[in-house]
Amino acid sequence: MADRIQLLPDHIANQIAAGEVIQRPASAVKELLENAVDAGATNIKLLVNDAGKALVQVIDNGAGMSPTDARRAFERHATSKIRQIDDLFQIRTMGFRGEALASIAAVAQVELRTRRAEDELGTCVQIENSQVQKQEAVAAPVGTSISMKNLFFNVPARRNFLKSNTSELRHIVDEFIRVAMAFPDIFFGLTHNGQQLFHLEAGSLKQRTVQILGNNYGSKLVAVQEDTDYLNVRGFVGKPETAKKTRGDQYFFVNNRYIRSGYLNHAVSNAFQDLIATDSFPSYVLFIDLDPAQVDVNVHPTKQEIKFEDEKIVYAFVQAAVKHALAHFSITPTLDFGLDASIQNLESIQRPFTEAQQSAARGSNLYQGFTQANQAHAIEASRAFQAPSKGGSSGFPAMPDFGASAEERALNAAPDGDFTPLLDVFRSREPWTVQQLFGTYILAAEDDRFLLIHQQSAHERILYERAAAAVQGKPIATQRSLFPASIELAPADAVLLAELLPDLQQVGYHIEPFGKTAFAIQGTPADVEAGNEKAILERILEQVKHFSEVKLPRREMLLRSVALQQSIKPGTTLSEKEMQRLVEDLFNCRVPNATPSGKPTYVEFGKEGLDKMFGR
Ligand code: ADP
Ligand code: MG
Repeated sequence: MADRIQLLPDHIANQIAAGEVIQRPASAVKELLENAVDAGATNIKLLVNDAGKALVQVIDNGAGMSPTDARRAFERHATSKIRQIDDLFQIRTMGFRGEALASIAAVAQVELRTRRAEDELGTCVQIENSQVQKQEAVAAPVGTSISMKNLFFNVPARRNFLKSNTSELRHIVDEFIRVAMAFPDIFFGLTHNGQQLFHLEAGSLKQRTVQILGNNYGSKLVAVQEDTDYLNVRGFVGKPETAKKTRGDQYFFVNNRYIRSGYLNHAVSNAFQDLIATDSFPSYVLFIDLDPAQVDVNVHPTKQEIKFEDEKIVYAFVQAAVKHALAHFSITPTLDFGLDASIQNLESIQRPFTEAQQSAARGSNLYQGFTQANQAHAIEASRAFQAPSKGGSSGFPAMPDFGASAEERALNAAPDGDFTPLLDVFRSREPWTVQQLFGTYILAAEDDRFLLIHQQSAHERILYERAAAAVQGKPIATQRSLFPASIELAPADAVLLAELLPDLQQVGYHIEPFGKTAFAIQGTPADVEAGNEKAILERILEQVKHFSEVKLPRREMLLRSVALQQSIKPGTTLSEKEMQRLVEDLFNCRVPNATPSGKPTYVEFGKEGLDKMFGR
């Protein structure tokens, strides 16, 4: 038999490797912006078309490249930033792997124009499929312009994996903000389809923070600044009144690199303890600067996680720095600790990190959100339900199939279909006997069976179907506010909200933009409590963002978010009449047995099954 192993042709090997670095237009945005920063630019413009699917272009006024470097930049492991392995521990630049441009060139059509100040002429290089198509001397301004067209034009499978423009644009804006936030002394602009979304003049970190988070932060930022030999923390936290129901405005940077850290987030939240409601998130923009040797940057290029040489110190330090800042501005009532004592004195820093603290970190919303997203709540519900009938048939009517995870069900969302004929019984009947349990469930009984209904899930289903009907036909009535609430959003959220306005109007939210990032809430559906408009809207947005990770049409995301946010929460006491109404409305739904994302709305117990359970 012939030998079977072959070396992959370069362009295929490059495409495979590129998949690690460039997953979506936003990954290219990050890499190109970082290259411009590394090149010492003071003015960086990002232009995108079609959420980056058609074009991502970055124009900078940095150092530029020589004709040879212009070509070499696209080779794998081509970098001017490290020479030897030890350099890895002294990294002060954003890039260093020499993979980004090679990856981009493998999966898109790329044109580079660049000139150094000392050269009279610049260079233009065109590359496609990792092959140089053309290189020539051209007139060009000092600096570099790289445009990446038709991402994944040669890898259709990946192109199909891209999400909606709304979702891809969000990712781009997120990456843009993360770089722009870290370098306030550089001008950054972002234009999408010819429309300017950001124009961030160079300035102080405070100015940049306000430019990005919104004007309403102007007088509400508390400066954080602590320096020690080991590390420095600087930046801002929002005063407690800026805490939000959404996790939106939270930024950590380590040596100017944006990172995500549930652990450090916990440190900040802890510092805010008792100052904000437990279900709110503090806002912060914090920079941790330390010796690069204390950080393992050699993680995967697209990962935002980071490893510290000593995590506990960083945790203690961040928490103390934030507490100190809050105390200093007399926002916290307690001044019962001295920062210098707790930080400079190593012994107290190295206090063992207790079990309790660790489990608190694990219990954080971030961690929970992550693990819960992949759980099939419904499986547990039906297991619990079947458990008592140890072997043999239970005699209970068949449960709808809740086996699939909520996420899977969301993906296959088929609003019609799988309800049991049994429901017909409930559709036209006398009022049932109802009883509320734990402020969360409704027990609805008739002669030989009872239902245990989850009040919020049931309400979610009802509201979802109502909203779905409204966007297709008759809009839900709006209750005009006498005193319209206004809401100021981060620019990324403002872009999202603007897109949702027409559908929101159909479901009863009358919202008008004024200015770039501010909106007036002129009216809400009649059943939204006055005074709550802003919080509800914020939560709807947060939910839409969450759903935009699953590949759902925009309208579907909105409908589900509205239903979820307006639904009655556990702990709400219901009158008998309200309960009757809820049960009736539920069984008038087309799909009464599950929420739009597939959680069960009720569990049914038949008398026969109960008898069996008790051995009768
Ligand atoms: P890395 O940034 O890890 O070095 P890249 O593939 O991103 O790798 O870039 C390769 C090299 O191309 C860089 O090391 C740098 O020398 C050069 N380069 C890339 N972008 C620019 C730019 N905007 N201006 C000047 N030089 C650049
Ligand atoms: Mg780079």
